[in-house]
Amino acid sequence: MAFEKIKLPTASVGNQAYIYLHRFGPSGGKKVYIQAGLHADEHPGLLVAQHLLRHLQQLDQQGLLNAEIVLVPFANPIGLRQRSFGHVIGRCDWHTGQNFNRNMAINTDQVMATLADCFGDDLAENDHLMRAGLKHLVRQRTDDFEINSLHKTLLLHSIDAHYVLDLHCDDVALPHVFYGVHQPEKGAALANAMGFAICLEEDVTGTVAFDGTHTQPWVNIEKHLNRQVFSQPCFAATLELRGTRDVSPALAEQDCLGILDFLTHESLIDRQPTAQKSVELKRLGVDQVKMVRASTSGIVTYRAKLGDTLTVNEPFADLVLLDSPTTKSVPILAPCNGYLFSTTGHYFTTKGDTIAMLATNELQNKAGTQLAF
Ligand SMILES: [Zn+2]
Repeated sequence: MAFEKIKLPTASVGNQAYIYLHRFGPSGGKKVYIQAGLHADEHPGLLVAQHLLRHLQQLDQQGLLNAEIVLVPFANPIGLRQRSFGHVIGRCDWHTGQNFNRNMAINTDQVMATLADCFGDDLAENDHLMRAGLKHLVRQRTDDFEINSLHKTLLLHSIDAHYVLDLHCDDVALPHVFYGVHQPEKGAALANAMGFAICLEEDVTGTVAFDGTHTQPWVNIEKHLNRQVFSQPCFAATLELRGTRDVSPALAEQDCLGILDFLTHESLIDRQPTAQKSVELKRLGVDQVKMVRASTSGIVTYRAKLGDTLTVNEPFADLVLLDSPTTKSVPILAPCNGYLFSTTGHYFTTKGDTIAMLATNELQNKAGTQLAF
């Protein structure tokens, strides 16, 4: 068990930010990396991390961990200090405008140029070479802006992990999980352990977030060499822990136990899993999510509730116009059949705002489309 307080390079005189990092279990074998709050305005994960801290300390003391588990309980101190008139505005960096959970991918050309030629027939050895090579590439990256040094610091501790779990949340939503479409079994195991029904499977060869940053190089190398190269590539997932307001000790403990159950399922912890949650998984591609957008500005209210299955043209919400000479409300119709799993927490909407997300069976978006900016 170890605790580290890691200084981020000072970007502005007189300011010092730190990443806190907890390390449990034996090093040198499998490695798990878990972080919370990369989007600093999403707080359910921060509480889950504290529950994990307590459980992992106990499990480590009892000698029940079979892997090194690294926990970063707040991954974005830069975003956490971005307060505007009392509110934490933590999705994007105020200095660069950049989303804290984008633009950190390891350059694919660089991965190919430095690593593609070094793999032989020993898959386990290839895993080892890949992890060392990726870490070397992270060490070399520039950290001109503070957001880049944040990404570099986090990646230095995560890029060689076998499992990466990034804790986020949506606005108002049912819990769901994102992972690479190439790892459906592990993704389903995670969703089952969490009791999260909605699994959004992503092609990780395009634009990626923190999770895809860890899986993309492995996929690209095997695609490029057109053969199985690795024995255990990194599995990475983003857990969307419902909505921003879903912060409670009961939910945090439930999600913490779900994460521990997944790690137990993967033989990384010796313990009895908690009672199995029975959920029927809805597995779909991210490009099968229909984003319903406001056609005009107004106050949105919902007739349907999260978890309802909508049929095409069903009025599921209303937009109350604010600029009509007389009171006027426009019903919002479901554009297709779908399962309502996310709505907006901002009742006042502007034209183009996403007011609902539906899980559907059809292709809705171009591959690589991001669900949120
Ligand atoms: Zn997020």
